[in-house]
Amino acid sequence: MSETSQQPAYKIIDHKYDTVVVGAGGSGLRATMGSAAGGLRTACITKVFPTRSHTVAAQGGIAASLGNNSPDHWTWHMYDTVKGSDWLGDQDAIEYMVREAPQAVYELEHAGVPFSRNDDGTIYQRPFGGHMQNMGEGPPVQRTCAAADRTGHAMLHALYQQSLRFDADFYIEYFALDLIMEDGADGPVCRGVIAMCMEDGSIHRFSAHNVVLATGGYGRAYFSCTSAHTCTGDGGGMVLRAGLPLQDMEFIQFHPTGIYGAGVLITEGARGEGGYLTNSEGERFMERYAPSAKDLASRDVVSRSMAMEIREGRGVGKESDHIFLHLDHIDPNILAERLPGITESGKIFAGVDLTRQPLPVVPTVHYNMGGIPTNYHGEVITLKDGNPDSVVPGLFAVGEAACVSVHGANRLGSNSLIDLVVFGRATGLRVNEITKPGTAHKPLPSDSADMALERLDHFRNAAGGTPTAQIRLAMQRDMQAHCAVFRTEELMAEGVGKLDTIYKGMEDISVTDRSLIWNSDLIETLELDNLISQAHCTIKSAIARKESRGAHAREDFSDRDDENWMKHTLSWFAGWGGKGGDVALDYRPVHDFTLTDEATYVEPKARVY
Ligand SMILES: Cc1cc2nc3c(=O)[nH]c(=O)nc-3n(C[C@H](O)[C@H](O)[C@H](O)COP(=O)(O)OP(=O)(O)OC[C@H]3O[C@@H](n4cnc5c(N)ncnc54)[C@H](O)[C@@H]3O)c2cc1C
Repeated sequence: MSETSQQPAYKIIDHKYDTVVVGAGGSGLRATMGSAAGGLRTACITKVFPTRSHTVAAQGGIAASLGNNSPDHWTWHMYDTVKGSDWLGDQDAIEYMVREAPQAVYELEHAGVPFSRNDDGTIYQRPFGGHMQNMGEGPPVQRTCAAADRTGHAMLHALYQQSLRFDADFYIEYFALDLIMEDGADGPVCRGVIAMCMEDGSIHRFSAHNVVLATGGYGRAYFSCTSAHTCTGDGGGMVLRAGLPLQDMEFIQFHPTGIYGAGVLITEGARGEGGYLTNSEGERFMERYAPSAKDLASRDVVSRSMAMEIREGRGVGKESDHIFLHLDHIDPNILAERLPGITESGKIFAGVDLTRQPLPVVPTVHYNMGGIPTNYHGEVITLKDGNPDSVVPGLFAVGEAACVSVHGANRLGSNSLIDLVVFGRATGLRVNEITKPGTAHKPLPSDSADMALERLDHFRNAAGGTPTAQIRLAMQRDMQAHCAVFRTEELMAEGVGKLDTIYKGMEDISVTDRSLIWNSDLIETLELDNLISQAHCTIKSAIARKESRGAHAREDFSDRDDENWMKHTLSWFAGWGGKGGDVALDYRPVHDFTLTDEATYVEPKARVY
């Protein structure tokens, strides 16, 4: 630090907007569109070109109770989502999402998403894990709308094209560094955000009445994950540095079918179209674990069953460490029509011809249920003076970065894409409701860029002995080994010990490139710093939660404990760059009420499929 302790001289370019959205995935683009369409001056900042955001990789589809291919109703979708969440989801927010879902899908259709069709021209819908008819009674419902197996790709392109229709400014390949926070009379207020243009290193200070974080998940905290290298949870990192908490970080979704070795995703749509899993004895073992839903039980259940088979010596392959997914019994024409992308992935990443051979798969980190706590308007909330729903003025979060919480302890497949557009839209509506276009900007605090620049300059000049990649790999391996599908006190305590040492190692980090022009070494270091604070929150929240719920499966506390643990975990992290490192925990109650009288509260019961 010593060589950089004086205030560094970076040139700052100032901007003023009503709304600044950070992130151009499905949620960020929908929020950008909504804010701009309502007449607010809106900017969208993104570190990758919008159509390269991770949403582009979504395959299987987007859930809405259209009822085109089987009877359906939004109350059934609500029931399944609450049950899928293992009763950790907030039922008011879930009601909001499932009721808005059909409209949101028609909106995408009109925006140009080329959905796959039924013969009568309606949108084709496929079955997906955990989605059932008749309030969970079954049979499976066909609720997931898809554009073949490239749904996210189609959505993201349509949304980007639409957002260009409105007068929003795009700052593409700009990296957001930190929020500008101020102490208001009633607590912290967000006033804007600081970003760096990666092309020329210029620093941009955005003064905004509303800042929307739509930065996606932090899957890259783990060694094997299906998400893009850019999924480094930068929004969550910024929120922690602003002294605000993250919520339910212990709930990490493992997707049952990542390609063994590569981590590349094979959509659940594959099982939706009739695919099934077998062990080394050729047995369709899901019939034992989930007699009624079988291979279409929810993701946590299928992942755990696979892990169990592997642990008990019935895995396939030389190391007996993975499972087979069969699609070889399905008509090759159906595969070519409905799952062309995964047929290609099978060939490229596993060297397998799906029409004739089984595909080697293994549970792989896929989604972060936890994130920045918000209400169903997208407003960031925190615990203040005993109020668990206290709004942080000026700050919003949407998409995988946020925790509304609709997914609770476990997200159902195809419920994320719908979350992106429903809550992206809700946020657009909210900012327009509370902001008058052209409202004057109060001057920013004089130290508004100090924290962001001190941190940037620190890492840019970091002259230690350990490369960023080495520390990142150590963190990823630690999380994969100690905070994965099965968890015990002992295993996690060991993981915490190692993570603390790895974090301290950040003080000795080495960044070799000092320039400000496309300095990927520096950007990756800033991303690692964001990841590692969230890794800490994840494992510490997990060790504290002494029950099993959804994706959080403890062998030493194997039952769900509603009496003591039906509550959201809040976690705060102090420090950055190897300094500090303490995590503080607190809890807020789950919303056990609905939004309207038309929905009935789904009473907790055992979650069996
Ligand atoms: C392989 C795969 C398949 C999936 N399939 C499905 C599916 O079929 N159905 C479903 O419902 N869900 C699916 N999911 C989950 C779903 O796709 C994601 O949860 C969702 O797309 C996340 O969208 P998002 O808008 O939150 O963020 P993302 O799409 O991840 O975008 C994040 C944005 O934030 C920007 N950003 C991040 N940090 C910064 C920074 N510091 N400065 C500036 N910009 C920044 C990025 O540039 C990017 O534009 C899948 C996920 C994966 C990984």
